[in-house]
Amino acid sequence: MILYDTLSGKKKDFKPIKEGEVGIYYCGMTLQEAPHVGHMRAALTADILNRYFEFKGYKVKLLVNFTDIDDKVLESAKLEGKDFRELASFYEEEYTRASERLNIQKPALYPRATQHIKEIIELVERLVEKGFGYEVEGNVFFRVRKFKPYGRLSGKKLDELHIGARVSVDEMKQDPLDFALWKAVKPGEPYWFSPWGKGRPGWHIECSAMSTHYLGETFDIHGGGDDLIFPHHENEIAQAEAATEKPLANYWVHNAMLTIKDEKMSKSLQNFIPINSLLEEYDPNAIRLYLLQAHYRRQLNYNREMLKQASSGWEHIKIFLERTRGYEGKPIASYLEEFEKNMDDDLGTPGAIAFVFDLISKANEVSKNDTGDYRETIYLILGTLGFQIEHEESIALGEVLDKILTLRSDLRKEGNYKMADKIRVVLLEAGIAIEDTRDGTTWRVK
Ligand SMILES: [Zn+2]
Repeated sequence: MILYDTLSGKKKDFKPIKEGEVGIYYCGMTLQEAPHVGHMRAALTADILNRYFEFKGYKVKLLVNFTDIDDKVLESAKLEGKDFRELASFYEEEYTRASERLNIQKPALYPRATQHIKEIIELVERLVEKGFGYEVEGNVFFRVRKFKPYGRLSGKKLDELHIGARVSVDEMKQDPLDFALWKAVKPGEPYWFSPWGKGRPGWHIECSAMSTHYLGETFDIHGGGDDLIFPHHENEIAQAEAATEKPLANYWVHNAMLTIKDEKMSKSLQNFIPINSLLEEYDPNAIRLYLLQAHYRRQLNYNREMLKQASSGWEHIKIFLERTRGYEGKPIASYLEEFEKNMDDDLGTPGAIAFVFDLISKANEVSKNDTGDYRETIYLILGTLGFQIEHEESIALGEVLDKILTLRSDLRKEGNYKMADKIRVVLLEAGIAIEDTRDGTTWRVK
């Protein structure tokens, strides 16, 4: 399996640290606003990683964090006149509810910054001891120039950054490039006790602390939206690697932004589509189809027309599944290989989905005996891509119907046409149409 790694700028063969296992940390949302389609694109990218590695036989440990304390959360809480905890748990609930509806598999953990203050403080202390962190009036800053590889992930040069940073020179910092690890309390703000006095963590430090706490000092995959490459992930690397002297993650996976009229969907631009309003209008599977039809590394411009097309695409899949309900078979190995070929190449979901539509066209032409095999193949692929389809139920329905139809054909053999016809009428009332042909009796859901 090949993944594109932002740090090396190349597609790399995936090799896990521990055979058969994969640890993934994906940056989740800051709980300051209603989750929008852009947030869900990131969640879905993590979900596909989670599901596809599972499909490949890996034991996956996926962590998606919630930032429940930072400047933006406090600002939102103030605007909405709520306590920051109340605000954060409100949006967290919205996020998890939308995730459930989109059939996003629950990660192993949704760690929150405020529950890991101890780990955060420990990491900051370690950085201070090593000379990477310094305290000024209860604040602790990271000494960027001391960390030589700084800028490796984003490809930014320190001197260029220096010119940009000059505008917002913070008097307390020794260098405008430095960033906050710990912030001293301001009046009216929540705080925790630390060796530097009352305060709260900076934004970047939570992810370095939580990811290494749960996944080890070096883990397999770190991901997030590509808007986080700089400064967030650049700073995460600096903090973690300065402390541990080990690489933080072996692969850096970034999903591209969901844009609207070519601008990033965001609260600050007031151009976001809340996921809940979209879920009122569209089948969650259609939304999933729409998002997965674009490769995760390609910018996707929100487009209602495309969303409608995805809806009819999903209808097409549904009709096939309804039509073939009750057919049993085994997945076709060569087709699964084809699916894997698409997915193994940096999670090629657009190719995998196009392949599903190809398979449906083929399945519509094969003989009845092969239909079950096609159905099973398509089922397995759709399930791996996280589409929500009830399987067991339809198999049970097929089994029950086969038994009823056998009974009915026995009745007909005995000449009991009256009873046989009664069964036909009763089934029709239940929405199952049966038809007697020369090859036997077939049924379909009306
Ligand atoms: Zn993060």
